[in-house]
Amino acid sequence: MCGIVGYIGFREAYPILINGLKRLEYRGYDSAGIAVMNGTTNIYKHKGKVAELEETTRTKNIHGTIGMGHTRWATHGVPNDINAHPHSSQHAIFTVIHNGIIENYAKLKEKLEARGYKFVSDTDTEVLANLIEYIYIKGEVSAEIAVRLALAKVVGAYGIVIMCQNEPEQLIAARKGSPLVIGIGNNEYFVASDATPIVEYTNSVIYLNNDNIAVIKRNELTLKTIENLQVTPTVHKLTMDIDAIEKNGFEHFMLKEIFEQPRSINDTFRGRISPLLDEIRLGGLMDILPKIDQAKRIIIIACGTSWHAGLVGEYLIEEFARIPVEVEYGSEFRYRNPIINKDDIIIAISQSGETADTLAAISLAKSKGATVLGICNVVGSSIPRETHAGVYTHAGPEIGVASTKAFTAQVTVLTMFAFMMGHRKKLISNQQYKQLITDLVAIPQKIEHILEMHQEYKRIAELYKDATNFLYLGRGYLFPVALEGALKLKEISYIHAEGYPAAEMKHGPIALIDNKMPVVVIATRDKSYEKICSNIQEVKARKGIVIAIVTEGDTVIKQMADHVLEVPATNEAIAPLTTVVPLQLLSYYIAVMRGCNVDQPRNLAKSVTVE
Ligand code: GLU
Repeated sequence: MCGIVGYIGFREAYPILINGLKRLEYRGYDSAGIAVMNGTTNIYKHKGKVAELEETTRTKNIHGTIGMGHTRWATHGVPNDINAHPHSSQHAIFTVIHNGIIENYAKLKEKLEARGYKFVSDTDTEVLANLIEYIYIKGEVSAEIAVRLALAKVVGAYGIVIMCQNEPEQLIAARKGSPLVIGIGNNEYFVASDATPIVEYTNSVIYLNNDNIAVIKRNELTLKTIENLQVTPTVHKLTMDIDAIEKNGFEHFMLKEIFEQPRSINDTFRGRISPLLDEIRLGGLMDILPKIDQAKRIIIIACGTSWHAGLVGEYLIEEFARIPVEVEYGSEFRYRNPIINKDDIIIAISQSGETADTLAAISLAKSKGATVLGICNVVGSSIPRETHAGVYTHAGPEIGVASTKAFTAQVTVLTMFAFMMGHRKKLISNQQYKQLITDLVAIPQKIEHILEMHQEYKRIAELYKDATNFLYLGRGYLFPVALEGALKLKEISYIHAEGYPAAEMKHGPIALIDNKMPVVVIATRDKSYEKICSNIQEVKARKGIVIAIVTEGDTVIKQMADHVLEVPATNEAIAPLTTVVPLQLLSYYIAVMRGCNVDQPRNLAKSVTVE
């Protein structure tokens, strides 16, 4: 849950580290720090954003061609200057940056204190730095061996980079649970939590596997397991381009990503829909399709926004493919002794492919013999590597912490999956199949149309930006959209919001409605249209303020609602893809008007790599 960047080579490390941290800041941003080695190891760290770190270090003439940087998302110890990374060991021999949690840190700390170690921070990371140093001095071993022996004693998750003052020509990097990528240059190497800081220098990368330790010198990389077995690295080519990780004129990444959706959904279709619109082919699943045909049950596992996409998936798969579906939170599933059968198909959904709870749920399901599929955005991340098969969403890098284009890409994949399975199982005729695909490929253009009306969303945001509570209601396919709309608002504007199936309103939330409560009702024309109209009446009867998302040309709801926001008509099964866009825009503008940091909301981080 944080950003790590490291460099060793012939260039000045400082600008590479600062720029790298800026690119990684979406992963964690409560404090930031860098260390550069040049004879001595100089550490600069601060509570707050990377910009503040840059401000205070710019004039310091930091020189050196080996160094590392970190943006923190605190797990142990409040965000302050001392708890910020890098952490140095007591005798300043080792400097460490760390992403993750050392679960047995208290026990290790106690032992080290008994041996005379004093601690300056509250972090688990400092324990690791001191443990490595203790083993190094006591055992009179090399830095590499000390790191290996120390990691063998550690319980928990880590992505770490280490510098040793006595062996100044190398970086050591290791991974268990938290991702690390190594970029290969000419006589230089880069290490980072993801490829975004690396892509402007090289497109050749190695993804570290769990329990791998890399010793990185200027012109040599050695990769071993924690058991000291040599590993042959696999070099991957990055396809990400630099524009994808810049704002390109938008005020925020989130806005850019909302506006990218027509393109990103097209990228999700690319190569998967036949030119005649009569076939869907999800390449990554081809070998496993006979198994899916036989599935008695599908369990979708996800967290946060991906869980909402999973709920849409449940409705779609049950409707079109008639396979029973359950949707689970990774964190609940992994700890509740769930019933998992060998013929179950598990679909794990995660933008980053690194979500810790989802990963743990995957290994539980695998241990029971289930077949696990992944739907992920980040190519080469852990989930795609841990699953039997899968589909990349290809939405491009998502930097804004609140997920937008990744959600629509996940829903697009699940929609294609449901249609494809329904057709394979002969539950959908060729003609229906073609019609559904035709409707689906028309979505990007419909979203374009919604985006053209963004001024309208601004106007409504202005009216309700000071509300303290919001309610979101939807039925059927649009119920998960209501949940997602409420989550978006909470995440970035800090307004309390709840999503409900519209009919459930009568079982509690209706008590909250008064003339100060905006109620966003997703009420496009579908088979529950009449019912949702009644729900709107019920809200109005209690003086609630109704903001309705309606189908273009709707005149009925216009009479009842305070505001209507129109979206183009579409097949109701794919309406989540259009109706979620107004909710994204509404949350975005409200958050901006409230002066919130939209791309980096407080307390959140992009990928939740700790449980
Ligand atoms: N557990 C470490 C800390 O609290 C690392 C957190 C992170 O991943 O940023 O400092």
